[in-house]
Amino acid sequence: MIRPRVASSFALAVALVLPAARPALAEWLSGHEAIMGTEVRVELWHEDPDAGRAGIAAVMEEMRRIDRLMSTYKPESELSRLNREAARGPVRVSRELFDLITRALEFSRLTGGAFDVTYSSVGYLYDYPRGVAPSEEEIARRLDAIDYRHVVLDAATTTVRYARAGVRIDLGGIAKGHAVDRSIALLAGRGVAAAIVTAGGDSRVLGDHRGRPWMIGIRDPRRREDVVAVLPLVNAAISTSGDYERYFERDGVRYHHILDPKTGKSARGLRSVSILGPDSTTTDALSTSVFVLGAERGMRLVERMPGVDALLIDDSGRLRFTEGLRKAIEGRDR
Ligand code: ADP
Ligand code: MG
Repeated sequence: MIRPRVASSFALAVALVLPAARPALAEWLSGHEAIMGTEVRVELWHEDPDAGRAGIAAVMEEMRRIDRLMSTYKPESELSRLNREAARGPVRVSRELFDLITRALEFSRLTGGAFDVTYSSVGYLYDYPRGVAPSEEEIARRLDAIDYRHVVLDAATTTVRYARAGVRIDLGGIAKGHAVDRSIALLAGRGVAAAIVTAGGDSRVLGDHRGRPWMIGIRDPRRREDVVAVLPLVNAAISTSGDYERYFERDGVRYHHILDPKTGKSARGLRSVSILGPDSTTTDALSTSVFVLGAERGMRLVERMPGVDALLIDDSGRLRFTEGLRKAIEGRDR
């Protein structure tokens, strides 16, 4: 399905990206807005420009709706209310939030707890823009509250309960993927046949780009203006998790926003993880998961998932691919 093209140099990568990705101005419409703490971008093709622009506006509204529902920065969001009340008893939530928490717990079971939305029980103490990290004592005091098994779901009543005090959920590792999936479904429902929706590191493409694949560049995690690979996508999703999006450095230590639930500290070993797959909810959760699992266990997980591929960059800058990507690359070279 996915035929990657890997560039060995920046110059080559750019040569591959630009001609394919630059839209013909007469037909392609685009929009971008800052939502969910990141940049949301939509690009689509529509024969009727008014209908196309209405589609872009609808995507932005959908993103804002999901942000209002799931942001932990908004005290009035449904998720913030859940975090305040669920240790005291079952809290009834919307079907949408219930279903996304259910998906998140499925990824926790799949990854042996590497993906765990209760990471926030400690994670909320970090403030990356301000350079704040909790002390060892604070981490030790709260670490037991990180465990996805503390989250008790009742599908019949769509209620969520936390089995103990101190538990907090944050959906930052999966909600953008969900929002991108909703947006693509919304555009397809409006008759859009070709589009790309991006929210931060999560992108999904609908159809192709005028008979050719969409070309998605993977950034060099240490030289942001450079591209290490360009992957062609048709009707697929790609998510990248990196240690360079939200972080600060102190005494030579990089404090970044993907936490190992076992330690309550930033996961080590990788700089960047890109996951290719059928939908953005899956690729978003898996890119965060593989970042925590590390190269060996992460690769092993992805290799046994049909339709999912990965490109990793480890902390010495070395690239690794799943077998599916490697075969496609070698096939192209011949
Ligand atoms: P981005 O938010 O830059 O797209 P990711 O998709 O990798 O990057 O998500 C990182 C976010 O996931 C963090 O900001 C945090 O909200 C959340 N997170 C961090 N560690 C974990 C974890 N172990 N399990 C689940 N979610 C996590
Ligand atoms: Mg993610």
